[in-house]
This record gives sequence, structure tokens and C-alpha cells, in this order.
Amino acid sequence: MYCVPVLESTHEPAVVDGLPVGKVAHRRAVVCCNGDGPACSARHCGPVAHECGPFLAQLATCGYSRALPSAGAPGVCSLRSLNRSTLQAIFWGVRGSYPTPGPETVRYGGNTACVEIRSVDGDRIVIDAGTGLARLGEALAAGNQAGGQFDLLLSHLHWDHVQGLPYFAPCHNQAARVAIHALRPDVVKLRDIVRGVARHAFFPVALDDMAAQFDFHEVHPGRRFRAAAFAVRPFRLNHPFGAVGYRIDGGSASCAYVCDTAPFDLLLHKKHFLKGPEPLSPADRRQLQALRASLLQAVEGCDTVIYDTHYTQDEYARFPHYGHSTPDHALDLVAGQGIARLVLFHHAPNHSDTMMDEIDAQYRRKGEALGIEVVTAREGLALPVGVRARSSAHRVRAGL
Ligand SMILES: [Zn+2]
Ligand SMILES: [Zn+2]
Repeated sequence: MYCVPVLESTHEPAVVDGLPVGKVAHRRAVVCCNGDGPACSARHCGPVAHECGPFLAQLATCGYSRALPSAGAPGVCSLRSLNRSTLQAIFWGVRGSYPTPGPETVRYGGNTACVEIRSVDGDRIVIDAGTGLARLGEALAAGNQAGGQFDLLLSHLHWDHVQGLPYFAPCHNQAARVAIHALRPDVVKLRDIVRGVARHAFFPVALDDMAAQFDFHEVHPGRRFRAAAFAVRPFRLNHPFGAVGYRIDGGSASCAYVCDTAPFDLLLHKKHFLKGPEPLSPADRRQLQALRASLLQAVEGCDTVIYDTHYTQDEYARFPHYGHSTPDHALDLVAGQGIARLVLFHHAPNHSDTMMDEIDAQYRRKGEALGIEVVTAREGLALPVGVRARSSAHRVRAGL
């Protein structure tokens, strides 16, 4: 069984790839199918287009039917394009720095970084443990899926990437085993660092008292490993105290997560906080070039790249030393690398829905000119990764 979120709370027929996916779509609704592409469409998509309710009522056993993210963002999904070579990226939290609930962030969402990558066979990997992870945990618990193996990849240990961990339902399930993969930022053991997230001063249940079994795996940039059914390639990023990006390959689809990172020209982040741009030594310049080269090598040919685009250009000019990028930096980096789709991610907390709409429109246009599909991440967005992005990019390149 494969679960795909459909559009939420709209009275317009939703059409994706020419396929109606819901006349009156429901909040927190999902479509479940067996992932067989056209056969699945024939059996489920037709009825959904005319009458969601009875169909969804049959899906009471579906794990995601009661707990999808609630921000009113439309999920971009195409059942037609899902097949065995396709992954799905589900965005449970898209915000950077700190959670931003409120009326101005309803559509793009206020939870901090958390992305789930799923295969058609139901294998799952989770990247980052911002507050969006709590929502994923709720969804899993609602579907009695909070047990079993969970692989959690952390880009780094800044607060907006770990705060959801103590609230992740599988952590409190004795049938769960949570494997945490992360870069060790200093000489302290990774287990001890992560343990700090649930210290009693911050949260009543210490990590050692949680019901799940925890495993800790140090990530070494450049050293590939397997997690769940996926091949994972970590690469170093340019961020204060270090961060690591990941390329995930599953089937013949690939997705890269590049967050958090500054660009690779003006300054080199080290293990102290820079008060502003510092003069670059020749060794610093060589290191920046090496970081950029290893990133480009890792993401080359990816179907989808999710990128830290925290700042506008004006904001970046004021805070170049905070370790984040702009959509222009991201586009500049992915252009010409055979990448089909760029996802703007880790939105600054002061960016309202209105501002995000403007950014979205502006960079969709810029992306089109470069043959890259640009998507702005929203909480609740579920993106097929693989066939759809490749075919879209192909259409752009072919001028069709
Ligand atoms: Zn961050
Ligand atoms: Zn950070």
C-alpha cells in the first residue's frame, strides 16, 4: 500500500499532469494505491475526481489518513507518474531557525526542517529532526506504524534540525529502533551530544529513558553508506561548526538534501562563529573550491535537489556570515549539472506566505529559463521524485 497526500481544502478541481485528483479535496486526506502507476490511476484516481468521501472512507486503515500536515498547502502529486523507479519526498517542516506558527505562515507552514523520503515499497528515510518530525510521528502513531526501524539522517545539530526528536512518537515506542546518523562536530561522542537534546532541563524524558532503542552512526563526508533501502552519499557543507548534505538514491531515482549551507565564495565557515566576512587565506580558497566541487560531484544528475535558500539577496548581503544561501546561489550551483528540479527550502522565519509567493513566482521563471523546475517547499507537500521531474525537465529542454 502506498499513500499519497492529495490537495487540501480547495473547492477547485485539482489537476496535476492533466489528471484530476480531487473535486472537493479534503484536509489531511490521502490517496492510497499500490504504486503500480496506470493501474493504480484507473482504480482510484477516477473515483477521487468525482467523490472523495466514500473512497477515503474505505481507507480507514491508512497510516496517514488522519495526520498529514495541516498547513493548507497543495500537495503536488501525480499518481500517474508513480512507479517503481520513483521516490517520494514529503515535507513535514520547511522553515529555518525557529518554528513560526501563525496566520502569516499558514500556507507554507511554520515547522522546522524535516523531510521524509519514501520508496514505492514503503521504505523510509527521514532527514533532519526539526519540529516537523513531531508531525510525522503523529502520522505514524495514528496509523499504528510507530514501531520498526527508523533511519534518521541529521544535517547538523543546530536547534531547528533536532528540536522535534523528543516528540517523535517512535522514540516512545518499545517496538521501535531509531538509528541516528550524524556528523560528530567535536570530540564528544555523538550519543552524548544527541542525548543533550532531551536533557531534563529541556525535556522531562531523557533519551536513555525513552522506550525505543537508539543506535548512533557517525557520518563521514565522502564515505557512502546504506540506510533502509537507500544508498546514501554524504558531503560536507559550508556552515558554522559544520554540516553535511546527503544524496539519496533509491531504485533509479535520486534526491539530494543540501541544508544548511552558505555559498562557496565569500567566506569559509569554521568551528567558531564569524562576526562577518574574514579575509580568506589561499588555503581557505582551496578548501572552498574543494567543498563546492564535492557538492557538485555528489548532486550531479539528481532528479531533485532540496536546497537551503533561507535568504533573499538583500538579506544575504546583511548576514553573509550566518551560513545560509539564497535561491540565486542554489540556481547558480545546480544549473548545468543535469538536475531536473530544485526545491527552495529552509525559509527564513520572517518570510510570510505573501513573500514566499513572490519568491516562488520569481524563481519559477528563472528556473524555466535554465531548464530547471523550481518548486518552493511547503509543509505537507509530497513530491514524486524521479519520473515526473525528469519528464518536466525534458519538456523544457525539448521546448515542448
Ligand atoms: Zn537550519
Ligand atoms: Zn544551522
